[in-house]
Amino acid sequence: MGLLTDAAPARAQQIAALTGGWGVRGGTDRLIAALVRHYERVGGRLLLRHTVTALSRDPAGTCQIACSNGFSMKAASVASSLGADNTRALLSTPRNSRRQLAPAIFTVHFALRGSWPGIGHHGLLMCDEHHASVRAVRDKGILPARSSIVLSHPSAVDPALAPVGHAVFRAATIVPNLRQAPLDWAAVGPQLERAILAETGQRLIPDLADRLVMAFHTTPADWANRLALPGGTPFGLREPARAAARGLPDNVVLIGAQAGAGAAIPDVLAGAERAAGRLLGQLRSAGKG
Ligand SMILES: Cc1cc2nc3c(=O)[nH]c(=O)nc-3n(C[C@H](O)[C@H](O)[C@H](O)COP(=O)(O)OP(=O)(O)OC[C@H]3O[C@@H](n4cnc5c(N)ncnc54)[C@H](O)[C@@H]3O)c2cc1C
Repeated sequence: MGLLTDAAPARAQQIAALTGGWGVRGGTDRLIAALVRHYERVGGRLLLRHTVTALSRDPAGTCQIACSNGFSMKAASVASSLGADNTRALLSTPRNSRRQLAPAIFTVHFALRGSWPGIGHHGLLMCDEHHASVRAVRDKGILPARSSIVLSHPSAVDPALAPVGHAVFRAATIVPNLRQAPLDWAAVGPQLERAILAETGQRLIPDLADRLVMAFHTTPADWANRLALPGGTPFGLREPARAAARGLPDNVVLIGAQAGAGAAIPDVLAGAERAAGRLLGQLRSAGKG
């Protein structure tokens, strides 16, 4: 059964509150490095900074991939994590009507002098208006005055992530994606960062402002500009899109959060495994696997 991805940020909050949620020791890069090691062990090759600008197929169905840096390659099949609309655009096939995207996320990363053994690795600063604020973002694309904050404190369990005598935190909150509300994030971002730091200080660390060493934030505009995420949301489509791949050639399959397969890493990995099985099956039946 597909995950209702518009519930993802709220679900993340529930998971944080109910289970405590855990990150990767050493940082998420360690998970990526492990996945890359496995990919290379089975013969894969990772090319970074290669922006795909075109995907075409010859009459025999072989795919040709072209990148903005001039690199090109042929492939028997392609697994695309760019979502249905962007993949169709690369293939120059007509797009379907635009699907609704899940809300996005705003994060504030900050470092403080001192240590807080009483603040857990993962927690939820729930606000009184929690349900109303989630509905405002999800259904109306409104940025509420207050919403709940998921607070991660990774150095609580992995002290190497912060210099001695310091602690690092990440506060995250649900916000409208860029299609729901084209907010001016250059102006809104600093205001929201200040509000989140103030709320966290008021509820947990009264002298937070005095102890603050550094802080920076990421907005939906950053996700859109840096990662080309449609609408600036890392949580993919609002609903499972069974028809997302309709009209795509058999040897071009959609993977990743933007495929509607799910909004979190476990869903993305499960979707990738299904896609790999499907593509290997095609190669075997064509006598190439
Ligand atoms: C702040 C934050 C916290 C999160 N926390 C969690 C968590 O605790 N647990 C969890 O399970 N999930 C979490 N997620 C969600 C998780 O990160 C995503 O579900 C997952 O990364 C999606 O993987 P993906 O491969 O579909 O897409 P991405 O990881 O977004 O990768 C897509 C890649 O494609 C690249 N790309 C785009 N266009 C092109 C092009 N034309 N050519 C070449 N490359 C291109 C992008 O640059 C990007 O690197 C979080 C997300 C965010 C933003």
